[in-house]
Amino acid sequence: MIRVRACAWDDLVGQKRAATYLRRAAEGDAVSHAYLFVGPTGTGKKTAARALACALFCDDGACGSCGTCRRIRSATHPDFHLVAPEGVTYVVSQIHDVIHDVNLKPIEAPRKVYVLESVDRFNDASANAFLKTLEEPPGDVVIILLAGDFDDVLPTIASRCQVVRFSPVAPSTARALVVERTGASEDEARAALAAAGQVMPRAIDFLNSTGRRNARAAIMAILKRLIVMDGHDVLVAARELLTAVRAPVEEMKGAQAEEAEEAREYLSKGVAARMEKRHKRELTAYERDGITEILSVTESWLRDCLVMSRDMPELVNNIDTADATAEVAAVISVPAALRALECVRTARERIAYNVSPQLVVEAMLFDIQEVLRCPR
Ligand SMILES: [Zn+2]
Repeated sequence: MIRVRACAWDDLVGQKRAATYLRRAAEGDAVSHAYLFVGPTGTGKKTAARALACALFCDDGACGSCGTCRRIRSATHPDFHLVAPEGVTYVVSQIHDVIHDVNLKPIEAPRKVYVLESVDRFNDASANAFLKTLEEPPGDVVIILLAGDFDDVLPTIASRCQVVRFSPVAPSTARALVVERTGASEDEARAALAAAGQVMPRAIDFLNSTGRRNARAAIMAILKRLIVMDGHDVLVAARELLTAVRAPVEEMKGAQAEEAEEAREYLSKGVAARMEKRHKRELTAYERDGITEILSVTESWLRDCLVMSRDMPELVNNIDTADATAEVAAVISVPAALRALECVRTARERIAYNVSPQLVVEAMLFDIQEVLRCPR
């Protein structure tokens, strides 16, 4: 029986039930060949998959700090595979590659772990190609599928897995954990969670990133003066804002270069190529997340105006801008605040449809300005 120490599982916060279930399976050598982890973004599905791999690979009981555990965490261990759809959906050729790989022997570890993200993005053809492997992988393989919502996963896939559910963390718990992990104040944690769409790990990353905090400061500065800005001001501000949003992407490039440098010694060609692919994917996602974050900050600020206008200051998320919020709250009507919030929703949709971020932000600022100027 493997003794599992706490460390790698420590990263999995606020998910006691899932963690206990998986640790018991690992300790009792009763790990299933296929899992489906289901839960909203930021609830720790990927972290749990890593912890489980640590429990299976690490000689020191998922210590979280040895070379094996560190390489699992950075997805550079040759027997730990993180797979994401290469296109809008998983395509058959990608699934064939995975199946081919699954049937190879482990390189270092006693077993191999495959983590497939966003499995709600299988289509019928790629799902059919995968079913047999999912049902009966080689004995040394564990397949972990991740999805946001159980109902979006094809039943043929879901029925072949043990389902583990990850639940949203209560706001007060999330705040306490952010404070504990970053040393931020309660108010800062609240603002960070609002910027991060209430996703706790993102809020923690936000507080640790000077660039992202600067981007938040930039949009707040614009919102505070938006009502008095002329058209030219708005365009210039939008351009500067986008520059601020892109700065953290450069930070991330630096971190990736460090990771690649550190990993160079022990990486095989195949794993290095995979890491490079992952880095590219991460950069694209990170840039998009930066824009999304700006929209979330805007939304939370407008919500603050709304709750202040209803005299519910305890619901304000951005205490640092409370003065400006109060000024708007004094004049804005509920329908106008809702109209302003609608502008942010439209911007989100445009980003999802790949409209240029510059155009989206400009249009959103002009739309919100119009509402703020006629706040009835
Ligand atoms: Zn270890």
